[in-house]
Amino acid sequence: MKVKKQLLSLKAYDPGKPMSEVKKEYGLPKIVNLASNENPFGCSQSVSDALNSFSHYSRYPEGNAPLLREKVADRLGVKQKQLLFSTGLDEMIQMISRALLSPKTNVVMASMTFPQFRHHAVIEQAEIRQVPLIDGRHDLEGMQQVVDEQTSIVWICNPNNPTGTYVNETELSNFMEHIPKDTLVALDEAYYEYVTANDYPDTLKLMNDYENLLVLRTFSKAYGLAAFRVGYAIGHEALIEKLDIARLPFNTSSLGQIAAQAAIADEEFIQMSSYVNKMCLQQFYAFCNEYKVDYYPSQGNFIYIKLKKSVDEVFQYLMERGYIVRPMKDGIRVTVGTEEDNEGLISLLKQMFIEDASRLRLLS
Ligand SMILES: *Cc1c(COP(=O)(O)O)cnc(C)c1O
Repeated sequence: MKVKKQLLSLKAYDPGKPMSEVKKEYGLPKIVNLASNENPFGCSQSVSDALNSFSHYSRYPEGNAPLLREKVADRLGVKQKQLLFSTGLDEMIQMISRALLSPKTNVVMASMTFPQFRHHAVIEQAEIRQVPLIDGRHDLEGMQQVVDEQTSIVWICNPNNPTGTYVNETELSNFMEHIPKDTLVALDEAYYEYVTANDYPDTLKLMNDYENLLVLRTFSKAYGLAAFRVGYAIGHEALIEKLDIARLPFNTSSLGQIAAQAAIADEEFIQMSSYVNKMCLQQFYAFCNEYKVDYYPSQGNFIYIKLKKSVDEVFQYLMERGYIVRPMKDGIRVTVGTEEDNEGLISLLKQMFIEDASRLRLLS
């Protein structure tokens, strides 16, 4: 078949082994999934009530998500026309790439960062300029240096997935000063609701000065609605209007729109989730400090723990004992779960270290 040749260099997304299979294979009573940065508390109680009242299953959704649009615009204090909705941020990244990238353009991003930025750039045949993180943080100066006339998009994941580090207000404003006005700077703020740093940038305010800024947020993480696939972008009207042309007519589902409307009304749930997340991050910091394990302080609901031993081995060790984490280059990314689940994982890591140490002693 005449498949685009650039697809051959990519792999389809690997969802990992199904939980049911892992359970059966290792005879586990339950599995704790700390691999996908899902909210361990689920979502707002009001979501299921809202969903129960919907029965227009044979009707197409409202393509423009008007009711959700109104609620999000009110909440953020932006115009309704400044919003674009998508089937999760994954689709937003695809839409933006499709609308802006072509073989003559280039795209700038960090490495490591969210893999979908690169994935869609490859499909659109844009040149990819990746700038390594420094200490787990975006190297904005390095990124600025590789931006040129042909740069269509700069991706900044803030906080960065998988490291959890963030770009602060001063760094971002300085960066924006040096970027051409027709280069889109897309800030992926998927973990916005979890951020507690005082100097985290107010990107909606910054948007008053920079028309080339686009902010991405999602209902999948803190709002706990990953199953519904609802994300959105906030930008200047003229930009949103153009991106909207690349959108599928009925991208967000009726149920997704209803769930998101109910979720955004429940501020208390988000505050609780963010507060507990901050507390529980301390469990991981305490463990890492005690065992002299390197990690990046996180503004998200996950933590990157660096490990000196084989990542595959650690992943396997934890999986066989019922804990799924995300294997990374030189460590694991662990979602902050409930206090109990975090404790369970930490005990396993401690146990693993003790077993390693005694094996070494036997060898010497
Ligand atoms: C989870 C995640 C997304 C995708 O979220 P969906 O809205 O569920 O598609 C996008 N960007 C980052 C950085 C993420 O961590």
